[in-house]
Amino acid sequence: MRLFLAMMSHETNTFSNVPADRRQFEARHLHYGGEILEVFRDTGTCVGGMIDAAKRRDITLVPSVAASASPAGRVTSDIYAAVKERMLADLASAGRVDGVLLDLHGAMVPEGLDDGEGDLITAVRKGVGPHVPIAVTLDFHGNLSSAMVNDATLLHGYKTYPHVDMAERGVEATLRLIDVIEGRSRPTAAFRKPPLLPPLGNQGTARGPMRRLYDLADEMERDRRVISVSVFAGFPFADIPDAGLGIYVVTDNDQVLADELAERLARVAWEHRREFLHEALSVKDAVAKALASEGRPIVLADMADNTGGGSAGDGTEILRELVRVGARSAVVACIWDAAAVDACIAAGVGGRVTLDVGGKVDDRHGAPLRVTGTVRTLSDGRFVHKGPMMRGLPGRLGPTAVLDVDDIKVILISYRWQTLDPEMIRFVGIDPMAEKVVVVKSTIHYRAAFEPIAKEIIEVDAPGLSSSNLTRFRFERIRRPIFPLDLEATFS
Ligand SMILES: [Zn+2]
Repeated sequence: MRLFLAMMSHETNTFSNVPADRRQFEARHLHYGGEILEVFRDTGTCVGGMIDAAKRRDITLVPSVAASASPAGRVTSDIYAAVKERMLADLASAGRVDGVLLDLHGAMVPEGLDDGEGDLITAVRKGVGPHVPIAVTLDFHGNLSSAMVNDATLLHGYKTYPHVDMAERGVEATLRLIDVIEGRSRPTAAFRKPPLLPPLGNQGTARGPMRRLYDLADEMERDRRVISVSVFAGFPFADIPDAGLGIYVVTDNDQVLADELAERLARVAWEHRREFLHEALSVKDAVAKALASEGRPIVLADMADNTGGGSAGDGTEILRELVRVGARSAVVACIWDAAAVDACIAAGVGGRVTLDVGGKVDDRHGAPLRVTGTVRTLSDGRFVHKGPMMRGLPGRLGPTAVLDVDDIKVILISYRWQTLDPEMIRFVGIDPMAEKVVVVKSTIHYRAAFEPIAKEIIEVDAPGLSSSNLTRFRFERIRRPIFPLDLEATFS
């Protein structure tokens, strides 16, 4: 059996002015052919799971292209077209394939297109014809569309946020695809999109409304007639018609059951919609609370400046407050500011510099902050993920500097990446356990690795493009009415 394999992943924040261009993909992942197997084998990723499942079943993978970039603004049309063309050309020259495995995101918005994944899946469907099954893994934050549902045979969304089940979903997609190829199942899908745009802050699956929905989904999956159930929380910072929560149920050739279960999940999501509303402490209150707490480390989550949600990653407001109150034994991980890194490199380790850090990308993450400090560490930014997410996968932060501002250690990076792994602090010689205050730029993902080590976690309402206060955004194209932008929205 031969399965075609390709990956393209981007979570696009349409409010961001940072284009996701070729350079952003090259800084993260842009691999071709056999190199894909080398990079992703034995990693906690969907492609890692697909490789593992194929090996166990003695199946030949035909790897094409794997492209991903840190979430940012729209994917530029040149890199999108290049990856898509490569995928289709490889598919055309692959000879006979029995099935297709795609690892996509679900919230990719290329320039001039609303639904990147729908466009890709439709193109691949045209390439292979109506009879070759296509199985797709999608991020928990995918904004489900009818094109994705109609042109793929099977979709598999992550069931966790923090996303710790990616490899598992990759394995599942592969095994279910084999079932279809070998005639053991006939997937029949239903989907629902209640008018609901959940903010990120309460989308976590450890507790709250998404836990409730996945408990119900897990129960539904135990029915032998059900192949899989995905509840996509959706990605709210995409001003496109399809943004928001999506329910996807696929049964073995039972349309009535698929519709019934999808409808039930949509109703429950709608009934509990208010539980998605999120509140966090102001910067001032959060910093005061952290410094008044006993024990360490106290983790301050800069939820609204999460590069994993497409924020700039150079927000300064928490750092500004730490400096203002004279905090000690603190680390800020991490601020995206390549120019500041360059200044630190020029000064060298031990050099004393005065410079403006952060606040340079736009006017929505605080103003640049002038600080004077000592360059403590310089690094090429290479580390390996060691937490529950993406374990084993190499990470690249680009040239990296630690600037020590009176014992507030500011980690400055050149490539954008969310602070989801304590390794991003340890690899520059800082022990997060020994710090009083650890600032992480992340909304939920940091919890997988930081919750077990944090004395206390404080969620902070600083400014930024991944804020859970959706009234701060000007939506123009999303379908209306939609909750919570329209509190009076109804679902009939
Ligand atoms: Zn996600």
